[in-house]
Parts: sequence; structure tokens; C-alpha cells
Amino acid sequence: MLRINRLVKRYGNGEPVLKNLDLEVPGESVVSIIGASGAGKSTLLRCINRLVEPTSGSILLNETELTTLRKEPLRRARRRIGMIFQGFNLVDRLTVMENVQCGRLGYIPYWRAALRRYPAEDIERAFQLMERVGIAHYANKRADELSGGERQRVGVVRALMQDPDILLADEPTASLDPVTSRQIMELLQKLADELHLPVLINIHNVGEAKEFTQRIVGMRFGRIIFDGVPDDLDQEA
Ligand code: ADP
Ligand code: ADP
Repeated sequence: MLRINRLVKRYGNGEPVLKNLDLEVPGESVVSIIGASGAGKSTLLRCINRLVEPTSGSILLNETELTTLRKEPLRRARRRIGMIFQGFNLVDRLTVMENVQCGRLGYIPYWRAALRRYPAEDIERAFQLMERVGIAHYANKRADELSGGERQRVGVVRALMQDPDILLADEPTASLDPVTSRQIMELLQKLADELHLPVLINIHNVGEAKEFTQRIVGMRFGRIIFDGVPDDLDQEA
């Protein structure tokens, strides 16, 4: 469960770009965050993984207050926040197996990932997850030999290797064609259900958000202006 209370973020001395945000996301639920460019979607995600320092407010992930963690506890908490990226962020010259192992290792330099011998249980775990998303047969392929959809599945498995408490996806389908986008969105929903994970997806394509998620959060100028099911969004518009 993710519980955000009165979250404020102000960059420098400017106007806050997150203005007293409240948001609860239970496990097993996928939330699409929509809103015009500049609404604050990325800032919200970055506050959760603390790439951006919140100005005030609270972010509880399960029992942990994320906003006040420092150093080692912060590092530990971050390792349980799975990130999925628009551009996949894979290391092209590494194999699929090496790329997904990077998730567990906290994104070590690629040359260390390549030289490393992984414990049998980590290999086993990676195969299980790759099986689950349908890429096990690519384990020894180089990442740059895969299609976009396959690469995003590698990104998903890498995030799952962190044994995450939450998945944060920043425009995960923006580089994909519509058919592949659908598959990835359905995969995220399936994983949320099976692993009881809250999943937050920043998405610029409102059509995709409406089609593939049960809950949509709409942001505008740093506030949540809509939180509900896709059908109600139509009534607002
Ligand atoms: P849409 O109409 O698609 O919802 P907007 O036209 O309302 O989007 O977005 C307008 C622009 O206003 C955005 O590009 C954003 O950069 C800018 N903007 C951002 N913050 C503020 C603010 N606090 N007040 C006014 N404009 C803002
Ligand atoms: P979105 O993801 O919805 O496009 P962002 O979170 O990227 O919105 O941006 C929200 C607002 O914060 C925008 O007005 C943007 O210009 C501003 N902003 C984002 N990052 C920074 C930064 N590092 N420094 C200053 N302002 C920023």
C-alpha cells in the first residue's frame, strides 16, 4: 500500500509543482496518472523514489515513511522500488540475463555485471520471472537484439528482481506500437494482481489509460483534479 499525504514539492523558490497531494494506492491496483505536460506527473514519481526531495508531506510505503529516510535506510527502501522506463534503460551489450540481474544488484556498472558469476538462486529466480513474462528463451541474447516489446519485458523483469514493494512506470509504452503497448499494460495489470503490488504508471496517452486501467488519476498544475474509473472521466470531459 502506498499512502501519500499533503505532499508538496517546490523547486527552488518557485511556485510549488505539487500542491498538497493526497493519494492512496492499495496493493494489486494499477493507477494511470494523466495530465498535460508540466502537470507534475514525473515529479510525483520522483518524489516516491526520492530522486527528487519532497518539500513537505508524507509518503508511506507499507510501514515505511520514505520522505525522511537517509543514506543506508534510503538505499534499502529504494531497492524495493521497481522502476520501468520509457526508453527501457537496458545495457545493450549485456545479455538479457545480465540486464535483469542488474535489478538485484542495484544497477552496478555494466562491466561488473558482465564479469560476475550469479548465485544459482538468482539465476533460478530470473528464469521464473522471465518465464512469467514470456522472454525466458531470450536469456542469453544481447539486449540490443530484441524488439521494443521484448526489451520492455526485460525492463519489467529487472524491476521484479528487486523484489519490489511498488512498481513505478514512467511512460512505459511511449516507445511502443499500439499492439505491444496493450501487451505491456496487460502484463503490468497481471503482475499487480499476482504479486499484490501497487503500480503507478505515468502515461501521456489518455486513450491507453482509459482502455487498460481501472483507475485514473488526473493531474493539473500540481493538483489531483480527477480520481476515478475511466467512464467517469468521459463525463468530466
Ligand atoms: P491542457 O489544456 O492540455 O490541460 P494546459 O494548456 O492547461 O494543458 O497546460 C498549460 C501550460 O501551463 C503547461 O504547459 C504548463 O507548463 C503551464 N503551467 C504550469 N504550471 C502553471 C501554473 N501554475 N499556472 C499556469 N500555467 C502553468
Ligand atoms: P509532467 O511530468 O507532468 O510533465 P513535471 O513533473 O516534469 O511534469 O514538471 C512539473 C513542473 O515542474 C513543470 O513546470 C516543470 O517545469 C517543473 N520542473 C520539473 N523539474 C524541475 C527541476 N528539476 N527544476 C525546476 N523545475 C522543474
